[in-house]
Amino acid sequence: MPLLRSAFIALSHNRPLRRFCEHSRLGARLNSRFIAGMTPDDALRVAESLNRQGIAVTLDSLGESVTSETEARRAADVYHKLLDSIAARGLNANISVKLTQMGLTQMGPTQMGLDQSAQLAESTAGNLAEHARAAGNFLRIDMEDSRLTGITLGIVRRIHARAATRGAGGVVIQACLYRSQADVEQLLADGIRIRLCKGAYKEPPEVAYPRKADVDQSFLKLSQKLLLSPIYHGLATHDEAIIEATKAYAASRGIGREHFEFQMLYGVRRDLQRNLVRDGYKVRVYVPFGTEWYPYFMRRLAERPANVLFLARNFFRA
Ligand SMILES: Cc1cc2nc3c(=O)[nH]c(=O)nc-3n(C[C@H](O)[C@H](O)[C@H](O)COP(=O)(O)OP(=O)(O)OC[C@H]3O[C@@H](n4cnc5c(N)ncnc54)[C@H](O)[C@@H]3O)c2cc1C
Repeated sequence: MPLLRSAFIALSHNRPLRRFCEHSRLGARLNSRFIAGMTPDDALRVAESLNRQGIAVTLDSLGESVTSETEARRAADVYHKLLDSIAARGLNANISVKLTQMGLTQMGPTQMGLDQSAQLAESTAGNLAEHARAAGNFLRIDMEDSRLTGITLGIVRRIHARAATRGAGGVVIQACLYRSQADVEQLLADGIRIRLCKGAYKEPPEVAYPRKADVDQSFLKLSQKLLLSPIYHGLATHDEAIIEATKAYAASRGIGREHFEFQMLYGVRRDLQRNLVRDGYKVRVYVPFGTEWYPYFMRRLAERPANVLFLARNFFRA
Protein backbone atom coordinates (compact mmCIF):
# COMPACT_ATOMS: atom_id res chain seq x y z
CA MET A 1 0.00 0.00 0.00
CA PRO A 2 2.70 2.58 0.87
CA LEU A 3 4.22 1.84 -2.54
CA LEU A 4 0.97 2.57 -4.34
CA ARG A 5 0.54 5.72 -2.28
CA SER A 6 3.99 6.92 -3.33
CA ALA A 7 3.24 6.05 -6.95
CA PHE A 8 0.07 8.14 -7.02
CA ILE A 9 1.77 11.06 -5.26
CA ALA A 10 4.57 10.88 -7.84
CA LEU A 11 1.98 10.79 -10.65
CA SER A 12 0.29 13.88 -9.18
CA HIS A 13 3.37 15.86 -10.34
CA ASN A 14 3.41 14.35 -13.85
CA ARG A 15 2.78 17.21 -16.28
CA PRO A 16 2.03 15.29 -19.53
CA LEU A 17 -0.43 13.00 -17.75
CA ARG A 18 -1.99 16.02 -16.08
CA ARG A 19 -2.42 17.79 -19.45
CA PHE A 20 -3.96 14.68 -20.96
CA CYS A 21 -6.39 14.05 -18.07
CA GLU A 22 -7.52 17.65 -17.62
CA HIS A 23 -8.29 18.00 -21.32
CA SER A 24 -9.82 14.63 -22.12
CA ARG A 25 -13.39 13.45 -21.90
CA LEU A 26 -12.19 10.36 -20.07
CA GLY A 27 -10.79 12.60 -17.32
CA ALA A 28 -14.04 14.54 -17.04
CA ARG A 29 -15.95 11.29 -16.56
CA LEU A 30 -13.56 10.00 -13.91
CA ASN A 31 -13.27 13.12 -11.77
CA SER A 32 -16.95 13.69 -11.00
CA ARG A 33 -16.81 11.50 -7.90
CA PHE A 34 -14.48 13.92 -6.10
CA ILE A 35 -14.91 17.23 -7.97
CA ALA A 36 -18.12 19.28 -7.76
CA GLY A 37 -17.86 20.59 -11.32
CA MET A 38 -15.82 22.89 -13.49
CA THR A 39 -17.37 26.29 -12.63
CA PRO A 40 -18.10 28.33 -9.46
CA ASP A 41 -21.81 27.94 -10.22
CA ASP A 42 -21.47 24.14 -10.16
CA ALA A 43 -19.83 24.35 -6.74
CA LEU A 44 -22.38 26.84 -5.39
CA ARG A 45 -25.19 24.50 -6.48
CA VAL A 46 -23.53 21.61 -4.64
CA ALA A 47 -23.08 23.86 -1.58
CA GLU A 48 -26.78 24.71 -1.64
CA SER A 49 -27.69 21.06 -1.79
CA LEU A 50 -25.33 20.14 1.09
CA ASN A 51 -26.66 23.06 3.18
CA ARG A 52 -30.17 21.69 2.67
CA GLN A 53 -28.94 18.45 4.27
CA GLY A 54 -27.60 20.38 7.27
CA ILE A 55 -23.98 20.24 6.09
CA ALA A 56 -21.73 23.33 6.01
CA VAL A 57 -19.24 23.74 3.17
CA THR A 58 -15.79 25.05 2.40
CA LEU A 59 -15.20 25.88 -1.28
CA ASP A 60 -11.90 25.17 -2.99
CA SER A 61 -11.23 26.69 -6.41
CA LEU A 62 -8.73 24.10 -7.60
CA GLY A 63 -5.27 25.24 -8.61
CA GLU A 64 -1.81 25.26 -7.07
CA SER A 65 1.72 26.28 -7.95
CA VAL A 66 0.86 29.30 -10.10
CA THR A 67 3.84 30.70 -12.00
CA SER A 68 3.16 34.45 -12.18
CA GLU A 69 1.64 37.35 -10.29
CA THR A 70 -1.10 37.67 -12.93
CA GLU A 71 -2.16 34.05 -12.36
CA ALA A 72 -2.15 34.55 -8.58
CA ARG A 73 -4.36 37.64 -8.87
CA ARG A 74 -6.70 35.81 -11.25
CA ALA A 75 -6.99 32.90 -8.78
CA ALA A 76 -7.72 35.33 -5.93
CA ASP A 77 -10.44 37.04 -8.03
CA VAL A 78 -12.32 33.75 -8.26
CA TYR A 79 -12.35 33.61 -4.44
CA HIS A 80 -13.44 37.26 -4.09
CA LYS A 81 -16.41 36.50 -6.36
CA LEU A 82 -17.13 33.33 -4.36
CA LEU A 83 -17.29 35.35 -1.12
CA ASP A 84 -19.82 37.69 -2.78
CA SER A 85 -21.90 34.77 -4.12
CA ILE A 86 -21.89 33.02 -0.72
CA ALA A 87 -23.25 36.21 0.88
CA ALA A 88 -25.78 36.85 -1.92
CA ARG A 89 -27.15 33.29 -1.71
CA GLY A 90 -27.01 33.18 2.10
CA LEU A 91 -24.95 29.98 2.08
CA ASN A 92 -23.34 28.33 5.08
CA ALA A 93 -19.95 28.19 3.37
CA ASN A 94 -16.43 29.57 3.66
CA ILE A 95 -13.37 29.27 1.41
CA SER A 96 -10.19 27.16 1.41
CA VAL A 97 -7.12 28.53 -0.33
CA LYS A 98 -3.62 27.24 -1.09
CA LEU A 99 -0.76 29.73 -0.78
CA THR A 100 0.98 28.33 -3.88
CA GLN A 101 -2.18 29.38 -5.72
CA MET A 102 -1.84 32.88 -4.23
CA GLY A 103 1.71 33.21 -5.55
CA LEU A 104 3.95 31.33 -3.10
CA THR A 105 6.75 29.65 -4.98
CA GLN A 106 7.84 26.19 -4.00
CA MET A 107 10.73 25.90 -6.40
CA GLY A 108 10.78 25.05 -10.07
CA PRO A 109 10.34 27.26 -13.10
CA THR A 110 8.80 30.45 -11.72
CA GLN A 111 9.64 34.07 -12.29
CA MET A 112 9.88 34.94 -8.58
CA GLY A 113 12.19 34.15 -5.68
CA LEU A 114 10.92 32.70 -2.41
CA ASP A 115 10.83 36.00 -0.46
CA GLN A 116 9.12 37.92 -3.23
CA SER A 117 6.60 35.14 -3.79
CA ALA A 118 5.86 34.91 -0.05
CA GLN A 119 5.10 38.64 -0.01
CA LEU A 120 2.75 38.25 -2.96
CA ALA A 121 0.98 35.29 -1.32
CA GLU A 122 0.66 37.19 1.95
CA SER A 123 -0.85 40.21 0.28
CA THR A 124 -3.29 38.23 -1.93
CA ALA A 125 -4.39 35.99 0.96
CA GLY A 126 -4.50 39.04 3.28
CA ASN A 127 -6.88 40.84 0.89
CA LEU A 128 -9.08 37.76 0.84
CA ALA A 129 -9.09 37.59 4.64
CA GLU A 130 -10.08 41.27 4.76
CA HIS A 131 -12.95 40.63 2.35
CA ALA A 132 -14.00 37.54 4.34
CA ARG A 133 -13.98 39.47 7.60
CA ALA A 134 -16.06 42.33 6.13
CA ALA A 135 -18.56 39.72 4.87
CA GLY A 136 -18.65 37.94 8.24
CA ASN A 137 -16.97 34.95 6.61
CA PHE A 138 -13.76 32.96 7.03
CA LEU A 139 -10.69 32.00 5.00
CA ARG A 140 -8.96 28.67 5.61
CA ILE A 141 -5.39 28.38 4.39
CA ASP A 142 -4.79 24.77 3.34
CA MET A 143 -1.45 23.20 4.21
CA GLU A 144 0.82 21.93 1.42
CA ASP A 145 4.01 19.90 1.68
CA SER A 146 6.43 20.31 4.60
CA ARG A 147 8.83 22.60 2.69
CA LEU A 148 6.11 25.26 3.04
CA THR A 149 4.89 24.64 6.59
CA GLY A 150 6.99 27.32 8.30
CA ILE A 151 6.30 29.98 5.65
CA THR A 152 2.57 29.20 5.64
CA LEU A 153 2.27 29.42 9.42
CA GLY A 154 4.23 32.70 9.43
CA ILE A 155 1.85 34.21 6.87
CA VAL A 156 -1.25 33.02 8.72
CA ARG A 157 0.02 34.41 12.04
CA ARG A 158 0.81 37.80 10.50
CA ILE A 159 -2.64 37.94 8.85
CA HIS A 160 -4.22 37.07 12.19
CA ALA A 161 -2.22 39.77 13.99
CA ARG A 162 -3.58 42.58 11.75
CA ALA A 163 -6.67 44.36 13.08
CA ALA A 164 -8.33 44.35 9.63
CA THR A 165 -8.12 40.56 9.34
CA ARG A 166 -8.05 39.35 12.94
CA GLY A 167 -9.97 36.11 13.38
CA ALA A 168 -10.87 35.85 9.69
CA GLY A 169 -8.16 33.36 8.79
CA GLY A 170 -7.30 29.88 10.03
CA VAL A 171 -4.86 27.21 8.99
CA VAL A 172 -4.36 23.45 8.68
CA ILE A 173 -2.09 21.27 10.81
CA GLN A 174 -0.95 17.85 9.58
CA ALA A 175 -0.75 15.19 12.28
CA CYS A 176 1.93 13.32 10.33
CA LEU A 177 4.58 15.99 11.00
CA TYR A 178 6.78 15.81 14.12
CA ARG A 179 6.66 19.61 14.45
CA SER A 180 2.86 19.75 14.70
CA GLN A 181 2.68 19.46 18.48
CA ALA A 182 4.75 22.66 18.88
CA ASP A 183 2.91 24.39 16.03
CA VAL A 184 -0.47 23.66 17.62
CA GLU A 185 0.69 25.14 20.93
CA GLN A 186 1.85 28.31 19.19
CA LEU A 187 -1.36 28.69 17.17
CA LEU A 188 -3.54 28.13 20.22
CA ALA A 189 -1.57 30.78 22.12
CA ASP A 190 -2.26 33.15 19.21
CA GLY A 191 -5.99 32.25 19.18
CA ILE A 192 -5.95 30.87 15.62
CA ARG A 193 -8.52 28.36 14.39
CA ILE A 194 -7.07 25.04 13.23
CA ARG A 195 -8.22 22.32 10.86
CA LEU A 196 -6.47 19.11 11.91
CA CYS A 197 -5.84 16.48 9.22
CA LYS A 198 -3.46 13.53 8.83
CA GLY A 199 -1.53 14.99 5.85
CA ALA A 200 -1.86 14.20 2.15
CA TYR A 201 1.72 14.65 0.94
CA LYS A 202 4.65 12.26 0.70
CA GLU A 203 7.08 13.35 3.42
CA PRO A 204 10.58 12.11 4.32
CA PRO A 205 11.07 10.24 7.64
CA GLU A 206 13.19 13.14 8.91
CA VAL A 207 10.08 15.30 9.22
CA ALA A 208 7.07 12.94 9.39
CA TYR A 209 6.01 9.66 11.00
CA PRO A 210 6.52 6.91 8.40
CA ARG A 211 4.02 4.55 10.11
CA LYS A 212 0.30 5.16 9.73
CA ALA A 213 -0.36 3.97 13.30
CA ASP A 214 1.87 6.79 14.61
CA VAL A 215 0.08 9.35 12.45
CA ASP A 216 -3.28 8.15 13.82
CA GLN A 217 -1.93 8.38 17.37
CA SER A 218 -0.64 11.89 16.75
CA PHE A 219 -4.03 12.91 15.31
CA LEU A 220 -5.81 11.65 18.43
CA LYS A 221 -3.42 13.45 20.75
CA LEU A 222 -3.64 16.74 18.87
CA SER A 223 -7.41 16.54 18.48
CA GLN A 224 -7.78 16.29 22.27
CA LYS A 225 -5.66 19.41 22.68
CA LEU A 226 -7.90 21.24 20.21
CA LEU A 227 -11.09 20.07 21.88
CA LEU A 228 -9.89 21.38 25.23
CA SER A 229 -9.11 24.84 23.86
CA PRO A 230 -11.81 27.53 23.87
CA ILE A 231 -11.38 28.08 20.09
CA TYR A 232 -13.65 26.57 17.41
CA HIS A 233 -11.66 23.98 15.40
CA GLY A 234 -12.25 21.47 12.61
CA LEU A 235 -11.30 17.79 12.78
CA ALA A 236 -10.82 16.65 9.19
CA THR A 237 -10.94 12.89 8.89
CA HIS A 238 -13.06 10.01 7.59
CA ASP A 239 -11.46 7.60 10.03
CA GLU A 240 -14.36 6.03 11.93
CA ALA A 241 -12.22 4.84 14.86
CA ILE A 242 -10.87 8.37 15.37
CA ILE A 243 -14.32 9.90 15.00
CA GLU A 244 -15.72 7.53 17.63
CA ALA A 245 -12.82 8.25 19.97
CA THR A 246 -13.34 11.99 19.49
CA LYS A 247 -17.04 11.74 20.26
CA ALA A 248 -16.30 9.74 23.42
CA TYR A 249 -13.56 12.13 24.53
CA ALA A 250 -15.76 15.21 24.01
CA ALA A 251 -18.63 13.58 25.90
CA SER A 252 -16.35 12.54 28.79
CA ARG A 253 -15.10 16.14 29.15
CA GLY A 254 -18.53 17.74 28.80
CA ILE A 255 -17.53 19.42 25.52
CA GLY A 256 -20.67 20.31 23.55
CA ARG A 257 -21.27 19.21 19.95
CA GLU A 258 -21.48 22.88 18.90
CA HIS A 259 -17.93 23.48 20.11
CA PHE A 260 -16.17 21.83 17.11
CA GLU A 261 -16.88 20.42 13.66
CA PHE A 262 -15.98 17.31 11.72
CA GLN A 263 -14.77 17.99 8.20
CA MET A 264 -14.79 15.60 5.24
CA LEU A 265 -14.13 15.65 1.53
CA TYR A 266 -16.79 15.89 -1.16
CA GLY A 267 -17.61 12.40 -2.41
CA VAL A 268 -15.97 10.55 0.51
CA ARG A 269 -17.98 8.66 3.15
CA ARG A 270 -21.28 10.44 2.49
CA ASP A 271 -22.97 7.91 4.78
CA LEU A 272 -20.77 8.99 7.67
CA GLN A 273 -21.42 12.68 6.95
CA ARG A 274 -25.18 12.13 7.08
CA ASN A 275 -25.03 10.02 10.25
CA LEU A 276 -23.01 12.64 12.12
CA VAL A 277 -25.50 15.37 11.16
CA ARG A 278 -28.36 13.12 12.23
CA ASP A 279 -26.69 12.67 15.63
CA GLY A 280 -26.37 16.43 16.13
CA TYR A 281 -22.69 16.92 15.21
CA LYS A 282 -21.50 19.78 13.03
CA VAL A 283 -20.13 18.66 9.66
CA ARG A 284 -18.41 20.69 6.95
CA VAL A 285 -17.64 19.26 3.53
CA TYR A 286 -14.69 20.41 1.43
CA VAL A 287 -16.05 21.07 -2.06
CA PRO A 288 -13.40 21.43 -4.80
CA PHE A 289 -14.22 22.65 -8.30
CA GLY A 290 -12.43 23.86 -11.41
CA THR A 291 -10.54 22.71 -14.45
CA GLU A 292 -7.22 22.18 -12.63
CA TRP A 293 -8.40 19.12 -10.78
CA TYR A 294 -5.65 16.61 -11.56
CA PRO A 295 -3.23 16.95 -8.55
CA TYR A 296 -6.15 17.00 -6.08
CA PHE A 297 -7.69 13.94 -7.74
CA MET A 298 -4.41 11.99 -7.64
CA ARG A 299 -3.98 12.72 -3.92
CA ARG A 300 -7.45 11.21 -3.34
CA LEU A 301 -6.33 8.05 -5.18
CA ALA A 302 -3.13 8.00 -3.13
CA GLU A 303 -5.13 8.03 0.11
CA ARG A 304 -7.14 5.04 -0.98
CA PRO A 305 -5.77 3.15 -4.01
CA ALA A 306 -8.94 1.00 -3.95
CA ASN A 307 -10.62 4.11 -5.39
CA VAL A 308 -9.15 3.14 -8.75
CA LEU A 309 -11.20 -0.07 -8.77
CA PHE A 310 -14.24 1.81 -7.57
CA LEU A 311 -13.92 4.40 -10.34
CA ALA A 312 -13.25 1.75 -12.97
CA ARG A 313 -16.35 -0.22 -11.95
CA ASN A 314 -18.54 2.89 -12.17
CA PHE A 315 -16.93 3.94 -15.43
CA PHE A 316 -17.74 0.67 -17.17
CA ARG A 317 -21.21 0.53 -15.62
CA ALA A 318 -22.08 4.02 -16.93
C1 LIG B 1 -11.86 18.70 4.93
C2 LIG B 1 -10.48 18.19 4.65
C3 LIG B 1 -9.47 19.09 4.37
C4 LIG B 1 -8.17 18.64 4.16
N1 LIG B 1 -7.16 19.55 3.96
C5 LIG B 1 -5.89 19.11 3.86
C6 LIG B 1 -4.79 20.03 3.80
O1 LIG B 1 -4.96 21.25 3.83
N2 LIG B 1 -3.54 19.51 3.69
C7 LIG B 1 -3.30 18.16 3.67
O2 LIG B 1 -2.16 17.74 3.60
N3 LIG B 1 -4.33 17.27 3.69
C8 LIG B 1 -5.60 17.72 3.79
N4 LIG B 1 -6.62 16.80 3.85
C9 LIG B 1 -6.36 15.37 3.54
C10 LIG B 1 -5.95 14.58 4.76
O3 LIG B 1 -4.67 14.98 5.16
C11 LIG B 1 -5.95 13.06 4.48
O4 LIG B 1 -5.07 12.78 3.45
C12 LIG B 1 -7.31 12.49 4.12
O5 LIG B 1 -8.33 13.11 4.84
C13 LIG B 1 -7.36 10.97 4.41
O6 LIG B 1 -7.14 10.72 5.75
P1 LIG B 1 -8.27 10.24 6.80
O7 LIG B 1 -8.08 11.03 8.03
O8 LIG B 1 -9.62 10.33 6.19
O9 LIG B 1 -7.90 8.79 7.22
P2 LIG B 1 -7.40 7.43 6.47
O10 LIG B 1 -6.84 6.62 7.56
O11 LIG B 1 -6.54 7.77 5.31
O12 LIG B 1 -8.74 6.84 5.97
C14 LIG B 1 -9.76 6.39 6.84
C15 LIG B 1 -10.94 5.93 6.01
O13 LIG B 1 -11.51 7.03 5.34
C16 LIG B 1 -11.92 6.69 4.03
N5 LIG B 1 -11.11 7.49 3.06
C17 LIG B 1 -10.05 8.27 3.34
N6 LIG B 1 -9.61 8.88 2.22
C18 LIG B 1 -10.41 8.45 1.22
C19 LIG B 1 -10.46 8.73 -0.17
N7 LIG B 1 -9.62 9.53 -0.77
N8 LIG B 1 -11.43 8.10 -0.89
C20 LIG B 1 -12.32 7.27 -0.31
N9 LIG B 1 -12.32 6.98 1.01
C21 LIG B 1 -11.37 7.57 1.76
C22 LIG B 1 -11.70 5.22 3.89
O14 LIG B 1 -12.89 4.59 4.30
C23 LIG B 1 -10.57 4.97 4.88
O15 LIG B 1 -10.56 3.63 5.35
C24 LIG B 1 -7.90 17.23 4.14
C25 LIG B 1 -8.93 16.33 4.43
C26 LIG B 1 -10.20 16.78 4.71
C27 LIG B 1 -11.24 15.80 5.05
